Amino acid sequence: MRHPAIAIVGAGFSGTLLALHLLHRCPAPARITLIDRRSQFGHGQAYATGNPSHLLNVPAARMSAFHDRPGHFVEWLLRQPGGDALAAQGFVPRWHFGAYVRHLLYEDMQQPEYEDRLDLLHGDVVGLTETEAGLTLTLDGDRRLAADMAVLAVGNFPPEPPPAATPDFLDGRLYRPDPWAPDALAGLDTDAAVLLIGTGLTMADAVVSLLDQGHRGPIHALSRRGLLPRRHAPGNPPGLHATATPGPALPATLVEVTRALRADVRQATARGEDWRPVIDRLRPVTQAVWQSFTAADKARFLRHLRPWWDVHRHRMAGVVADRIEAARQSGQLQLHTGRIQLLREQDGAAVLTFRRRSDGTLHSLTGARVVNCAGPGCDYDRIGDPLVRGLLAAGLARPDELRLGLDITPTCALRDRLGALSGRLFAVGPVTKAAFWEITAVPDIRRQCEAVADHIAAIVKATLV
Ligand SMILES: Cc1cc2nc3c(=O)[nH]c(=O)nc-3n(C[C@H](O)[C@H](O)[C@H](O)COP(=O)(O)OP(=O)(O)OC[C@H]3O[C@@H](n4cnc5c(N)ncnc54)[C@H](O)[C@@H]3O)c2cc1C
Repeated sequence: MRHPAIAIVGAGFSGTLLALHLLHRCPAPARITLIDRRSQFGHGQAYATGNPSHLLNVPAARMSAFHDRPGHFVEWLLRQPGGDALAAQGFVPRWHFGAYVRHLLYEDMQQPEYEDRLDLLHGDVVGLTETEAGLTLTLDGDRRLAADMAVLAVGNFPPEPPPAATPDFLDGRLYRPDPWAPDALAGLDTDAAVLLIGTGLTMADAVVSLLDQGHRGPIHALSRRGLLPRRHAPGNPPGLHATATPGPALPATLVEVTRALRADVRQATARGEDWRPVIDRLRPVTQAVWQSFTAADKARFLRHLRPWWDVHRHRMAGVVADRIEAARQSGQLQLHTGRIQLLREQDGAAVLTFRRRSDGTLHSLTGARVVNCAGPGCDYDRIGDPLVRGLLAAGLARPDELRLGLDITPTCALRDRLGALSGRLFAVGPVTKAAFWEITAVPDIRRQCEAVADHIAAIVKATLV
């Protein structure tokens, strides 16, 4: 590695931030190439939305890209036109965060000391191979890029298809597999019924988009438990930072943690206090708690408690929650609880048959479109992305046993098919969920990017001496 070259696949928040940290830590002549199939670097999936009703679900004051400069995003916001009003909102339109990340990227690229050390490459990475000499990334158009190390910052994948759908339905014109695709809600008759699979934050985004485009028809949302994300507390201090309360050792088993959490919530409620800070106080230690669980406890959590955790932990901004509530009150949005039994096309319409959880009876919903809002697909054996398929087929990576992402080490190195850790391949962001669990939002990813940059920079420095 005489001129170490590091490729980062994905220029959303994770990949972009990692690139910046690597730039600051790796000495010349190390070079970094940041690659994305999107033309706008820094936005990724979450912050690419142009809809002003799509708000951050974390207050702006907690969205700094740097944990040691907590006010950084808000200070940037305040320098933007209308920044005062935006910052006062707390939950700002998501695109502002994308613009902030992009600003960080271009600001650094203009610094003379970094000028020639970071390349932006627009393209789709469709393959990656490894030889003793290093890595070769294949991009669309049969372009090749040689690298000594590569980091997967590929973010979330579209939801897994509902198992009870007929194959021709999944390929047909009534189904939208990707809720974030531009055509997910386009071209709908305003009075048509729309069926959404999932009742989480992605569903909330879809409902808000439908309302914004003047949709008048019924919106049905279905999930196994029918749980809606809770709302952030009104007046939740935007600057509040979750802190670990020093105290007795944390319990290590799922049963003990659940019991302790429930007791804390009960006590807070009895004192007339809000339950949310109890959940938020766990944030800084959630990864450690997850890592202390046995495999059986992790599986049990995913099977029984995950839906409850998700709706309490990943909450809606008040404004969004109000709109969802109003749509429910008016009857336009109807939530259903049950398991899909069949999804098919009949007489030109989508028909979704589900078994209701409460009484086991069968019900059918009919609509002009079905949009899968079931949450990101995490089982890498079922993800069709060519890069993922190629990595697994070559044995360079393997899915983790809980099917939450790829199997990685605590330093974010990929494990190969046999479990050996790679010295060249790393991952950041949602791909690493199995090892960390709590690696969804900016406050967690920013710490991870720093740690991975430290680790990779140490390898680079060692090869340069
Ligand atoms: C709708 C939504 C809203 C969210 N809102 C918030 C929020 O308010 N606050 C918060 O803290 N977190 C939020 N999150 C969590 C969010 O996932 C993280 O904050 C963070 O943005 C994840 O960034 P990422 O870079 O890992 O992934 P992504 O943003 O998904 O970026 C991955 C990038 O990789 C690119 N890519 C993937 N594969 C390839 C390939 N083979 N070749 C080339 N490019 C590739 C994609 O084009 C994409 O740009 C939200 C997530 C979603 C989905």
